[in-house]
Amino acid sequence: MKKIAILGSTGSIGTQALDIIRDFENLSVTSLSCGKNIELLEKQIREFKPAFVSVESEEDAEKLRENIDGLPCKVYSGMEGLIKVATDPKSDMLLTAIVGMIGIRPTVAAIKERKDIALANKETLVTAGHIIMPLAKEYNVKILPVDSEHSAIFQSLQGNEHNDIRRILLTASGGPFRGKKLHELKNVKVEDALKHPNWSMGKKITIDSATMVNKGLEVMEAAHLFNVSTARVQVVVHPESILHSAVEYEDGAVIGQMGLPDMKLPIEYAFFYPERKEAETEHLDLFKIHNLTFEEPDTETFYALSLAYDAYEAGGNVPTVYNAANERAVRLFLDKKIGFLQIPEIIQSSMMEIDYIDNPTLDDIFETEKETYDYIDRTF
Ligand code: NDP
Repeated sequence: MKKIAILGSTGSIGTQALDIIRDFENLSVTSLSCGKNIELLEKQIREFKPAFVSVESEEDAEKLRENIDGLPCKVYSGMEGLIKVATDPKSDMLLTAIVGMIGIRPTVAAIKERKDIALANKETLVTAGHIIMPLAKEYNVKILPVDSEHSAIFQSLQGNEHNDIRRILLTASGGPFRGKKLHELKNVKVEDALKHPNWSMGKKITIDSATMVNKGLEVMEAAHLFNVSTARVQVVVHPESILHSAVEYEDGAVIGQMGLPDMKLPIEYAFFYPERKEAETEHLDLFKIHNLTFEEPDTETFYALSLAYDAYEAGGNVPTVYNAANERAVRLFLDKKIGFLQIPEIIQSSMMEIDYIDNPTLDDIFETEKETYDYIDRTF
């Protein structure tokens, strides 16, 4: 029996993970956490019977305690609650399906308790990869990627641990605005940006796909996960989202993983690694697909992607500035306070303004996040 604790159980990845756990007798839930959606969390408590859960605010924790009065489930809140879930003594694995940099401290705490990590939260590695990856090595903890592209790369690396990687081919759907030029994106509305052609995901990552910031974050995440320079990570636009990414080896062989766009496969792979289990999902039929197409990314229009390469190259706290600026800008865009094209502008301007810190500690990372937010709030 594999016992799993989940950060972000009410989100897009969290609910799909619970669908998988429901389907397999040898998977169980030990503890769960959410932000504000306590109605859904209550349903999850009644179905999956975790020993404890965590919610964002103490006020919601109090409400939830009243609503589940009589059930054997404790309710915690805030960072203390997230860390309790992350370090749950009963779990074997932590799924980090929470959105944003708030996932960093619980992930560090989980590694120190030797929990394997099924990692969906990409902000953790982007900002603190230089801390997380060595820590995971020190504690002999597996970091199993849940992001479909990183899972595909990880799958393509199996059996090739001793072979050098020539290039990682990181595929991108291109998002809802593929083929558009900068001037055509000026009046984009929130509703347009939320229409992803292939994937159904949380709001923040859907906007990140539209700006290609998501791909920028993934380039940095891949560099940390697979210990390669970003110069070896080539983004390939592939609108059909069938090839989920590939690895090119020194002999020219390109090994990739294909499948229908469905997050259940990478989540399930992370849960059962290295085994593969039968899944109740639709299987890929290449005769129905007919064509797979590949394009170079348009980094003039989607220049947030180039900024990610610059951020990683600059190192230090610059990836944190990139990520924090994007988090704030996406929030402002979703609240209809700024236009779509201001998202990359805000990232670029923050990268120039915030003081550089070499080899940042966790405290430096959070200080950088705060400084970036303050700068954006003062300026935009
Ligand atoms: P969602 O927005 O759908 O879900 C986020 C989860 O985090 C929710 O359970 C939410 O709770 C919880 N949460 C948010 N803020 C807080 C907080 N302050 N305290 C506690 N919990 C909080 O996101 P996704 O599932 O789409 O994405 C999750 C992560 O996985 C992101 O880092 C994303 O980049 C990554 N990812 C997502 C993919 C996808 O297909 N969706 C693919 C690959 C990676 P609530 O809703 O209750 O407020």
